[in-house]
Amino acid sequence: MRDFVVVGAGPAGARFARSAAERGRDVLVLEQGEIGKPLACSGHVSLDVWEYVPDDARDRLFQNDIRGARFHLGGAGSRAYPFHRDDPISNAVDRVALDRTLARAAADAGADVRDGHTVTAVEEGRDGVTVTARGPDGTERFDARVVVGADGPRSRVRDECGLPEPDEFLHGVLGFDPDPDDEDFVDVHLTVPGFFAWRIPRGEAGVEYGLAVSPGDDPNGRFDRLVDGYDAAIDRRCSGLIPVGPPPRVTGKRSLLVGDAAGQTKPFTGGGILYGMRAADHAARTVDPARPETLGDYEDAWRDALRTDQRLGTAVRAGYSLPDPVQRLGLRAFSGEIGVHMDEPTTLFSREQLRAMLPGG
Ligand SMILES: Cc1cc2nc3c(=O)[nH]c(=O)nc-3n(C[C@H](O)[C@H](O)[C@H](O)COP(=O)(O)OP(=O)(O)OC[C@H]3O[C@@H](n4cnc5c(N)ncnc54)[C@H](O)[C@@H]3O)c2cc1C
Repeated sequence: MRDFVVVGAGPAGARFARSAAERGRDVLVLEQGEIGKPLACSGHVSLDVWEYVPDDARDRLFQNDIRGARFHLGGAGSRAYPFHRDDPISNAVDRVALDRTLARAAADAGADVRDGHTVTAVEEGRDGVTVTARGPDGTERFDARVVVGADGPRSRVRDECGLPEPDEFLHGVLGFDPDPDDEDFVDVHLTVPGFFAWRIPRGEAGVEYGLAVSPGDDPNGRFDRLVDGYDAAIDRRCSGLIPVGPPPRVTGKRSLLVGDAAGQTKPFTGGGILYGMRAADHAARTVDPARPETLGDYEDAWRDALRTDQRLGTAVRAGYSLPDPVQRLGLRAFSGEIGVHMDEPTTLFSREQLRAMLPGG
């Protein structure tokens, strides 16, 4: 019997597998498709991402440095309220290559990583869990002490184990214009209900446009209007779900969820790569597969680590729905140099940020 069967080799699953294997656990990872595909993510991350990948992967993954954001209350060409810093705040990275790199690191640590395996059923018993998967050799069953649902926003493991869903799902749409652009500002348009639309320069990889809204709020029509405003030539599009608001419980009798499956995203950006990997480390550290009662330690540990930033992120997101005149006042007051860490809205209230907001600060 394995210690862990991990379902899904995205950032959260691959990171969990690596951390657990490094602790000497026997880990099997089952990924339904080809690792990293299909792409449904901007790969716009804080610099913390480099702590999670081997040094020699940086050149392969890096696309562009981002030093600031221009906020707009209208579409392309509308007045911009810039927020910036001298040093890079974030990076655009190749998300497909990131997933492959993280999965390779898990395999190098000793995890057994298998693609082409779609998990179709999970049965939790008193002494273990049985995971059924459809693979190249037909249907196979795998026994483990604990199953890890790292299978994204529409988690099969979550459903099979009867665990609750995140509060909300947004529908994100992305499109790429292949014209290179190494400018170091992203554009953020507060023009869609409850969220925002964006433009990210990705260096040689071109420019990405995107937005996220509730599924009934015409994401595709809104996306068309966004790129028309920029006169962009989009040559490929993709879309995906963004879970917002973690469910009250992400552990079962012999199961745990991590990453998007557990709603471990930033409510004000939808970003989940780093939160999912941080939570994955907490899971690998706290859960002893031979003692399922330690699953509760994981519930406590990841919520302690992310609770404050997720709550503040929810408050920041509420600002996207304020009336235009109030948003204008807020953007005028806050724009300029910033000292904020992209994954930590608590830094909005840090000494560094307050100093940056003082005249000449
Ligand atoms: C449009 C959009 C833009 C985004 N931009 C950003 C961004 O710029 N920065 C950021 O940090 N985050 C961003 N995100 C969020 C980010 O993509 C997710 O938070 C992140 O991918 C979550 O990682 P994960 O490992 O939990 O899930 P995933 O990356 O979704 O990985 C889950 C894996 O499980 C596999 N799987 C699913 N079901 C099964 C099954 N039954 N059997 C086997 N395998 C299965 C899937 O194939 C997949 O490989 C964006 C999301 C969207 C939709």
